[in-house]
Amino acid sequence: MEREIIDIAKRIFKFEEEDAGFFKFGDAYIVIANDMLSRSFDFPSKLLPKQIGWKAVTASVSDLAAMGAKPIYFSYSLGLSREEISFVEDLMKGIREALDFYGMKFLSGDTNESTELVLDSVAVGIARNLLLRSNAKVGDAVCVTGDLGRAYCSLLYLLEKVEEIEEKILEKFLKPVARVDEGLKLANIANSAIDVSDGLSKELNLLANSSGVMIKVFEDRIPIREEVLEFCTSNNLNPIEVALNSGEEYELLFTVSKDKLEDLDFEFSIIGEVSKGEGVFLVGKEKKPLLPAGWEHFSSK
Ligand SMILES: [Mg+2]
Repeated sequence: MEREIIDIAKRIFKFEEEDAGFFKFGDAYIVIANDMLSRSFDFPSKLLPKQIGWKAVTASVSDLAAMGAKPIYFSYSLGLSREEISFVEDLMKGIREALDFYGMKFLSGDTNESTELVLDSVAVGIARNLLLRSNAKVGDAVCVTGDLGRAYCSLLYLLEKVEEIEEKILEKFLKPVARVDEGLKLANIANSAIDVSDGLSKELNLLANSSGVMIKVFEDRIPIREEVLEFCTSNNLNPIEVALNSGEEYELLFTVSKDKLEDLDFEFSIIGEVSKGEGVFLVGKEKKPLLPAGWEHFSSK
């Protein structure tokens, strides 16, 4: 359903789909990212108000990072029920902490009564060179920062589907960090990027479709931490599927010309390559199409 709504918006407002909107201002680009989170869909009840505030900032900042923009300002609109008024102070402290961490200034806010907590965050950034998801080139290496899968495992735990989890898995979900520095470096080196907010499989498909290319990903190159592998073994899960469908990772998926790989001075994994054609393929024992099965709003409705 989210897809249908985006398609209607694209038809009426006529825009190219990117991680954030942008316009030229002098010799730079102003980049603006919105991200709306609602309590029953985005926040397991075990998440503290402070963690919700932090996460809301990270979610919109991550979209700026994917565009190669430096975050500067933050605004929000907040809807709350009367029962949730006690949350406000801690929620705002969480936002404050994240703004300080990312070096951002608070710009404006709006509050209204709502049936449940809804937090729409808007991050404004500036970019010299824009990093687009529509610019992957044939021959590029497909890469991803960090590791994947911890957010998915955390969600299973927080939704009480499993009883135990290692702190090292949970910490990434409770306090995710947007890859701002990596995005700024990639802006001068990479050809395309998108952040992993809804799961690697979905982001790979968005990248391949908007760039008009085919992407091949090698199963054994997907970065999965030892703790996640152990968690999957104990809970009878397929770690590759977990890593492919894990949303809210806020890693950057990017493509870069192979001769520029050595210019990248941060940790990342090369997981695949861009070729002529269309679609995404996962190469393991066999090669099969990888559909955008990632977590999406409204998908179960
Ligand atoms: Mg995004």
